[in-house]
Amino acid sequence: MSNTESDPAERVICDGPHDGSTDGVTDRPGADLELLEPREVPLGGPRSMLVRRALPGKHRRMVGAWCFADAYGPDRVRMEVPPHPHIGLQTVSWLVEGEVHHRDSLGSDAMVRPGQLYLMTAGRGIAHSEMSPADATGTLHGAQLWVALPGRDRSTEPAFESHAHLPRMERGGAVITVMIGELLGKRSPATAYTPLVGAELALSPGGMVTIPVRTDFEHAVLALADGVEVGGRPVQPGAMAYAAPGTRELTIRTAGGSTTSLLLGGAPFEEELVMWWNFVGRSHEDIAQARATWQQERGADRTSRPRFGIVQGHDGRTLPAPELPRLTLRPRPRHRDA
Ligand code: MN
Repeated sequence: MSNTESDPAERVICDGPHDGSTDGVTDRPGADLELLEPREVPLGGPRSMLVRRALPGKHRRMVGAWCFADAYGPDRVRMEVPPHPHIGLQTVSWLVEGEVHHRDSLGSDAMVRPGQLYLMTAGRGIAHSEMSPADATGTLHGAQLWVALPGRDRSTEPAFESHAHLPRMERGGAVITVMIGELLGKRSPATAYTPLVGAELALSPGGMVTIPVRTDFEHAVLALADGVEVGGRPVQPGAMAYAAPGTRELTIRTAGGSTTSLLLGGAPFEEELVMWWNFVGRSHEDIAQARATWQQERGADRTSRPRFGIVQGHDGRTLPAPELPRLTLRPRPRHRDA
């Protein structure tokens, strides 16, 4: 997915508890959760698709190394994102319904399908496209997530991996699929560079599950459909219920029919990041250099694109980078007090 916002951080709403309790010091279950409301962002393209973006938020920019969270659908929309670059992150493509055609500058050509993990490590630089198949007319429903790479790995060689066979288990009317990291003793084969977890929770009608979680991680449950309740609190599609480190377990239930959410967590990410467009860096210079290289390479012939490469099948069409802001981009911490 391509981020069309140049400064995504300034329009988010970040709620505290809705029940009048003070700073979570209460026995009420769920009162210590923080609700992160998403904002709607158009992805662009001729039949523009709206996504709900909970990360980065104004106050809470990350959950572990998870630094970007878009939820979309279920809707009869098309995804049309031509080749664009990334650096310093991994993209996690997760579908609940539908199909998306992924192609990247490593030559990967894959149809993203529900229940399977598609993980692209951008490292020092990659380009990719994400398009609905030409004949697709059905529903699209899923999430696009980014994981920030730590400083020691942020310039690693780019890579793409897909995992059709992920650990899957049933608990309390929930089918839990471990996308990345480890949960309930089951480990995903996906490559991770920091301690983190990502799992899909698919609840059948009446389902309720309590999941023990690592107390050194922070977590968030991202609702992908109606009816998700976390700790007794409703979470709208695209929103997240955030639980700070120290939380021992999370209870997710459905308010009615079947519903889907993602559990995301990880060790708090201590490095300050500069996120701009589709780049994750550490300084204004990192970003300005990646932007300049992308702009130069997208106009160059096929033999001189050493950093981002070529995505086959688009007749050379690529997304231009937006203008850099006049001010200097500054690193931001993962959390900012209101
Ligand atoms: Mn992308």
